[in-house]
Amino acid sequence: MDRDLGPGPRATSHRTPAAAPTPVRGDTTARPVHNWRVPELPEVQALTVALRGHLAGRTVERCELASFAALKTVEPPLDSLAGRTVDEVGRRGKFVTVEAGGLFLVVHFARGGWLTWHETAPTARARPGRGPLALRVRLEGGSGFDITEMGTEKRLALWVVHDPGEVPPVAALGIDPLSPRFTADLLARLLSDAGSATLKTVLTTQSVVAGVGNAYSDEALFVAKLSPYRRADRLDADEVRRLHRAVVDVLSDATAQLVGLDIGDLKADKKRSLRVHGRTGETCPECGDTVRQVAFATKSLQYCPTCQTGGRPLADRRLSRLLK
Ligand SMILES: [Zn+2]
Repeated sequence: MDRDLGPGPRATSHRTPAAAPTPVRGDTTARPVHNWRVPELPEVQALTVALRGHLAGRTVERCELASFAALKTVEPPLDSLAGRTVDEVGRRGKFVTVEAGGLFLVVHFARGGWLTWHETAPTARARPGRGPLALRVRLEGGSGFDITEMGTEKRLALWVVHDPGEVPPVAALGIDPLSPRFTADLLARLLSDAGSATLKTVLTTQSVVAGVGNAYSDEALFVAKLSPYRRADRLDADEVRRLHRAVVDVLSDATAQLVGLDIGDLKADKKRSLRVHGRTGETCPECGDTVRQVAFATKSLQYCPTCQTGGRPLADRRLSRLLK
């Protein structure tokens, strides 16, 4: 049963994505923005598989909340997970669900969040504070895991619910691109419904395609040889097929590379498989051109002009200032 891939009954509903973010004007820092560590579908899927191995059949002894802001629900209380045995660990988009005795702990890691597994959980009780620790879960027998969030964004989110569908962003998720229901025909419909939105925006809008973020959308667009700024509703049938194949291949290959690794190695290992994302200034592995970027306030996208945009660099004020 592929409950990891089941996006739920509302999966086909989606909203028209907003327009692509506007590049920041006046930002003249030339520092490349490294954002490939954000966990996306492949990392979260590999984490789900690893965590299932650690948790299935184990009983939760205690949950210690260190970041009150991270917990988005009050009822049922977090403490009600204690004493329950974990039945299953699943994934919805970039969310992990831990099911224990009829309750679900749902986790969204966001940019700086991750999970550390402990064969022997630290003895110190987790205390609320400014550190990265958000939640410590202890299992009977002494093992457990910490959920942490580095950085200042503080967007990591936790929910305790009777059904993952009670979590609004989970309920709103679009199709899982590793689901057999994600066909070229479905992608064609989603692109056509997206109107004037760009391909980059459509691929990264969670209510349309669940689990793809900035890194793997760059990769899929590169493999499909399509500009991130192409209008979604202007692709011909061959281009849709190419994009569909690229999305599925990029995500499947990355997932296959990551599943089986230790949880601690998953985020660090992500960059190895990336062809253009996070590689501004490096050589395109297909054509030898230089990988370029468009920078936004907190992230950047990468692409190859020769492979994707007919040799024309996309406008990036930061870069064009430097080249003058
Ligand atoms: Zn190229």
